[in-house]
Amino acid sequence: ARACLERMEATEPRIAAMLRVDADGALARARELDAAGPDPSQALWGVPVTVKDALSTKGMTTTAGSRILEGFTPIYDAFAVEKLRRAGAVLLGKANLDEFAMGSGTENSAYQKTRNPWNTAKVPGGSSGGSAASVAAGQCFASLGTDTGGSIRQPASFCGCVGLKPTYGRVSRYGLIAYGSSLDQIGPLTRSVEDCARVLAVIAGHDPRDATCDPRPVDDYAAALTRGDGLKGLRLGLPREFFGDGLTPEVRAACDAALARARELGAELVEVSLPHTEAAIATYYIIAMAEASSNLARFDGVRYGRRAPDVKNLEELYVRSRSEGFGQEVKRRIMLGAYVLSSGYYDAYYRKAAQVRRLIRDEYLAALDQCDALCAPVSPVTAWDLGSHAADPLQAYLMDAYTLSLNLAGLPGLSLPVGLGADSNMPVGLQLIGPAFGEARLLGVGHALE
Ligand code: GLN
Repeated sequence: ARACLERMEATEPRIAAMLRVDADGALARARELDAAGPDPSQALWGVPVTVKDALSTKGMTTTAGSRILEGFTPIYDAFAVEKLRRAGAVLLGKANLDEFAMGSGTENSAYQKTRNPWNTAKVPGGSSGGSAASVAAGQCFASLGTDTGGSIRQPASFCGCVGLKPTYGRVSRYGLIAYGSSLDQIGPLTRSVEDCARVLAVIAGHDPRDATCDPRPVDDYAAALTRGDGLKGLRLGLPREFFGDGLTPEVRAACDAALARARELGAELVEVSLPHTEAAIATYYIIAMAEASSNLARFDGVRYGRRAPDVKNLEELYVRSRSEGFGQEVKRRIMLGAYVLSSGYYDAYYRKAAQVRRLIRDEYLAALDQCDALCAPVSPVTAWDLGSHAADPLQAYLMDAYTLSLNLAGLPGLSLPVGLGADSNMPVGLQLIGPAFGEARLLGVGHALE
């Protein structure tokens, strides 16, 4: 824990991954664990971790990267955080993110911009960019992120670490500050596939406080890593639509090299098709913004966080608290979300998106019937220059093409580092996509390819 805190002190001035560091609390907890001695029932005994600031931490300020939650201190831990603590992990602090997890570069945080440890002129990806940067910079051994449309996998890919979005329902969302409730999942960002398996084993599992959390038993993820026979007998599907226009040559080359390795290890590669991929971005942004506008209605200046001072009446309290508390991107999404849900537009936008979502899911299931897992790039590009997407949010939305359809389908996805792009010299991630609750298989394939 001390070594990680020292590393943090040395790297934070350049990368700004952390919103809050609790050095005293972490060292006290580490001493407590030392005094008690190693405990085999604690799978993460003494492991220093960071957590995205969208997850509630008891007694530790939690802002979701927003001014409207300035100074908000939860009175309970998120389920996943509680599980980490009980497993013996040492929580070092809270990692930066795009405000309410809305973004792909961690540039929408109300507090600071995080930089990519590989090249500080570049974004770390987002929205879990602080988590990815803290892992990549060696500030911790694992971090928890959240993924609504790619926010674990894309920053993992931009920062060269491993990131897993579990199946919807595998990890409880209790204590997660909601963005799009039907899409959000919590998952690990780590330095290796093995570490990812060990953290997932701790945070997965049933929690009656999240009605969408699945009761089925948790697989033995660590056991899934020892395949022995490479990838023999495994069919990997390549969705044609994920290798088309828009994919940069350097990302394609790095993914092709990894796929060639998979073939050498005995995997059979087959082409599959996901014809509605084209509609995924529009579908996702309608559904995510609709859910966001509803979820964010609770921030009224009364119940949590920041309240506008010197107001004359209740209406002014709402208006000023929300106008001053939310950033530009969040306001844009609340307005668009309220619009697609409003009477007269609901059928044309929201209902239609929900129908297309079903088609996208069915296509995934059909593709996964033909193979054991799908392989695709995580992002069509490597990390971009800080500020280069500031003027055009649509440009950033388009970059999510390969990640967000998975959230619409509720399926698990693993982002695996597969080397550096030949042009940018920045990390590239390969995405492994599996059937619902197929995390063990994805981790096994990822470990073999690592
Ligand atoms: N970039 C996507 C968005 O802005 C995904 C964010 C996420 O997964 N939290 O909605």
